[in-house]
Amino acid sequence: MESTMKAAVLKDLETIAIEDVPVPEPKDGEVLVEVRASALCGSDLAGYTGQHSMIKWPIILGHEASGVVAKCGRGADNWSPGDPVTIEPLFTCKKCHACRTGKYHLCSSLKFAGHQVHGTFAKYAIAESGFLHRKPENVSFEEAALTEPAASPLHAIERCDIRLGDFVVIIGSGVTGLFALQYALSKGAEVLISDPEEFKLKIAGDFGANYILNPGKQDLRKRVMAITGGIGADCVVEAVGISETLASTVSFVKGGGPILLIGYSEKESEPFDLSTVTLAELTVLGMLAYFNDFPAALKLMSLGRVKAGPIITHRLPLESVEEGIKMMKRKDQGIIKIVITYDR
Ligand SMILES: [Zn+2]
Ligand SMILES: [Zn+2]
Repeated sequence: MESTMKAAVLKDLETIAIEDVPVPEPKDGEVLVEVRASALCGSDLAGYTGQHSMIKWPIILGHEASGVVAKCGRGADNWSPGDPVTIEPLFTCKKCHACRTGKYHLCSSLKFAGHQVHGTFAKYAIAESGFLHRKPENVSFEEAALTEPAASPLHAIERCDIRLGDFVVIIGSGVTGLFALQYALSKGAEVLISDPEEFKLKIAGDFGANYILNPGKQDLRKRVMAITGGIGADCVVEAVGISETLASTVSFVKGGGPILLIGYSEKESEPFDLSTVTLAELTVLGMLAYFNDFPAALKLMSLGRVKAGPIITHRLPLESVEEGIKMMKRKDQGIIKIVITYDR
């Protein structure tokens, strides 16, 4: 095996260089994965522009990836070279209270690939053997790279008690919203999804959304109240994370209903009206990443109940990681998910 590899290294503010770096050596319990597909994420953009509190350069970005096992560290013998896998990009201490009580995603010294340790925009990447998941044969490497962004909304939706026939509103039809939509539909809900971008609504419609709404053209609250006879939505999922959409949620969720906050922006978001939370007995739910959610996300993709393919709008080579991030920064038309693909 070669001793160096190409990697896209964030060197400085808004500066990524393609460099030859040493191929990392898997330590005890770790596995070296040859990356086959790795998707760009909003957090990569935030790291690039210096707006991500956990990302400090120099670092290889990237945390949404699939590939094949290249080499196993000591004690990682549950995998063999050649195994097709998707990477759950976490590194945990196994010792803290959260780890010992099974909530590893809340580990007090949680490390994320591409954040505190080198990530997946390279030919090879390191993962913990316990955080690899076998890729089903009928799921492509590109689709499998989206297991990570599919796992967070799965984890989040499982926190709401969605029942057959419930009316669910999802604000935001980006990657997170589009996965949340498919999960809510799988749970037998009737779903309205809103987004100002028509091409995202089109995909939501293709995925089976019962109602799509452009808030630039229609009033979301009025529409929800009209559909529900003035009662409000059984559950509201906020997948944007900005003050305006956060504040709106309390105005059309039904009394007692849950509001799930899965959108996140590092910019300050104003708190919403807490008196309404009290007086309407609302439940506000947060989410951080995922925990034991990768197997279900992969299974739903394999069964065809959840589609990742239509969410992938662009494919670029490793050399173009920076260009992809710039495309996201410029908000180029038509982008939902950019995936880095690898020649072999
Ligand atoms: Zn991500
Ligand atoms: Zn821990």
